[in-house]
Amino acid sequence: MRKPETIETLYLDFDGFFASVMQQAMPHLRGKPVGVIPFDTASAQYTTVIACSKEAKARGVQNVMRVPEARAICPDIVLVMQRPDLFRWAHGALLNEISCEIPIETVKSIDELCCTLTKSDIGDPQGLARRLKSFIAENIGPHITCSIGYAANRLLAKMACKMDKPNGVTIWRPEDMPRPLQDLPLTEVPGIGGRMEKRLAAAGVNQMEGLLDLQPKQARALWGNVTGERLWYALHGYALKAEPTGRGMYGHGRVLPPEWRNLDKAYDCARLLLIKAARRMRRDRFYTNRLWVWLDLRKGAWVQCRDIPSAHDDKAILSALDILWEKARDDLARHKIEIVRVGVTLSDLTPANARKRDLFHADDEDRQKWERLTADMDGLNRKFGKRVLSLGPLTPPPGGYAGGKIAYTRIPSAEDFW
Ligand SMILES: [Mg+2]
Repeated sequence: MRKPETIETLYLDFDGFFASVMQQAMPHLRGKPVGVIPFDTASAQYTTVIACSKEAKARGVQNVMRVPEARAICPDIVLVMQRPDLFRWAHGALLNEISCEIPIETVKSIDELCCTLTKSDIGDPQGLARRLKSFIAENIGPHITCSIGYAANRLLAKMACKMDKPNGVTIWRPEDMPRPLQDLPLTEVPGIGGRMEKRLAAAGVNQMEGLLDLQPKQARALWGNVTGERLWYALHGYALKAEPTGRGMYGHGRVLPPEWRNLDKAYDCARLLLIKAARRMRRDRFYTNRLWVWLDLRKGAWVQCRDIPSAHDDKAILSALDILWEKARDDLARHKIEIVRVGVTLSDLTPANARKRDLFHADDEDRQKWERLTADMDGLNRKFGKRVLSLGPLTPPPGGYAGGKIAYTRIPSAEDFW
């Protein structure tokens, strides 16, 4: 395995992305403690702050905190409804600025990305960071800032990036390693969470030094798979090729506003989310073999799945939803339940070119007809740039943006907002 002798990777993370985009776009929010919430302010007391500005953070508010709690800590917090369309626009504009200066290798999430350095950038990383920051400030706006980390590989660059937030630049040169790591808690390593920390402690590894002193084979044994060994090599500054990650599933979830927390309304929402997930799946040329429905209740959850033989048309997928929903009614209707969040996932994917015809569900004519119809509807919706056709009525929940919701790890594309 190769061990680089210079820095090779840049990792960039925008600071408090959602709140700073809102502050950039809406001047009256600047300098104020801002909390971004998923619904309009009328039902705010029942919901959660999903992101907050640095001013709110300084007052003790955290991302993902119930609104009453945030208000107790910071009575003058300004609550604003999320604007996924704005976040997506900012994401695109920022990427554009950065790629004018250096090619982007991987977009890791809506607010994180990494690049491989060129020879001249390796010679002047501070200069590159200065240029990137000034382009963003001048061409997008000074209220959106980023932190940058440089190191021999992506994992170390990502860790370096967190060292000097907000608006920092941290360079971990191979010759200086592993000193900057030594005082960090183990949970600062991406991939080590609370559970792994406990497992390591049980094996006598309580600090970074202990982790670094392991043999690669021991790390592998502790993790129970090759992840531990890869992590060990990455922490020691080796250049690792990223594991190919195949597409696992397509899904959407949505927290329901208070007046939508019943089986009928939750069904409307599930149907809408599923149509969007299926469309994304078709766009990437996959077929699904299983549908999952997740209902988070005030207490507990209801999760069920149903096999669908290698399908991608709305008719087949929505029929599976109806069958699952009947089960949900049987199980839940007589109880006084509140459905807080609904989620749908299409899993067990098959690429379109490797589709196995199911022995018991031969591709009959009816099925082929629905597939053609679905393809035509997709084509028309794409042509008009909005949803002009759907199978049955679509009832979006208040607040809009179903399926266009921003997740840190998924950047919605324009059509997710239709
Ligand atoms: Mg960030």
